[in-house]
Amino acid sequence: MHGATVDLDDGALTALGIHRLEIPVPFVEAGGPANVYVIEDADGRYTLFDTGIGTPDGIAALRGQAAERKLDLRKLSRIVVSHGHLDHFGNAQMLSEESGARVFIHDADVEKIAGDARFAALLKKHRGYFVRLGVPAETLDLMQAAADRQSNQIRYVERSRLGPLREGEVLQFKHFEVVVKHLPGHTPGLVCLYAEQQRVFFADDHVLARVSPNPLLDLSQGEGATKFRALARYLEGAKWVRDLELDAVLPGHGPAFRGHRELLDGLFAFYGVRQEKLMTRLAESPASVFELLPTLFPRRDPGRLVLMLSEVLANVEVLEDLGRVTALEGEIVRYAPS
Ligand SMILES: [Zn+2]
Ligand SMILES: [Zn+2]
Repeated sequence: MHGATVDLDDGALTALGIHRLEIPVPFVEAGGPANVYVIEDADGRYTLFDTGIGTPDGIAALRGQAAERKLDLRKLSRIVVSHGHLDHFGNAQMLSEESGARVFIHDADVEKIAGDARFAALLKKHRGYFVRLGVPAETLDLMQAAADRQSNQIRYVERSRLGPLREGEVLQFKHFEVVVKHLPGHTPGLVCLYAEQQRVFFADDHVLARVSPNPLLDLSQGEGATKFRALARYLEGAKWVRDLELDAVLPGHGPAFRGHRELLDGLFAFYGVRQEKLMTRLAESPASVFELLPTLFPRRDPGRLVLMLSEVLANVEVLEDLGRVTALEGEIVRYAPS
């Protein structure tokens, strides 16, 4: 297979034993339907990379498309989950029950799919953190209610079904092998799969063609010095991916694409612009993360408040790491140019 190139259509992927199923996702910020990659193993079984969301529509799409392609999802050798978001792990428990396959996920995201690092629980536990970001109490109550509603729709994975997924581990398939790459950012435990010989990169939500991979506010690693700095970590990993020689990126949402380098350069520039906007605003007066929202998002959308807060905080953290802004401690933390 050395030197083989991969065309972008699903037919060429099928020649590598890769079958892409598209599972509808009921929230727009995901960037379209989520991909489930069914990858042929040498022994006639399949490895699954991601599982789609466990809504009735999601399950129907998964079963319908698998049946159409004659892929028997009871014959799974392992279920690999790229990261702990429900559009990626939502059907893992169900598929594990039906096939007996274990569910492999990186340690840093285990609590998201099995434990108590669900956003609703984290929000409750770290309410004080959001207060210091400047979020008003009534807004926090609305965020909590929305998060609680979402928790009820999720099927978590039993711990007894979980297996580890480690940086540098090699996974063998029928036609190729991949190395597991831990690329924290979008979540602390996100992994991608890299088929170096085929120059194919399974990027899930680390590199997406149509949307930026939201560096989500994540308190699963604590809120003090251990606080996960999503965008700073993301940019490190994205720079590593940028320098790979790739013929195809297989993302977590949407069809395979080429041109990851231009795409990522565009993304780095996009974050640069956002950071300069924040600097311009902070030159006027110190501001909290909440007070900075209108600088990046002129229209406040309550349903997307967590994403907006995440985006502002992540960029402020990058500026802080660069020594360009300083946190002024208080009941509400405000930032000022250094
Ligand atoms: Zn995600
Ligand atoms: Zn996703």
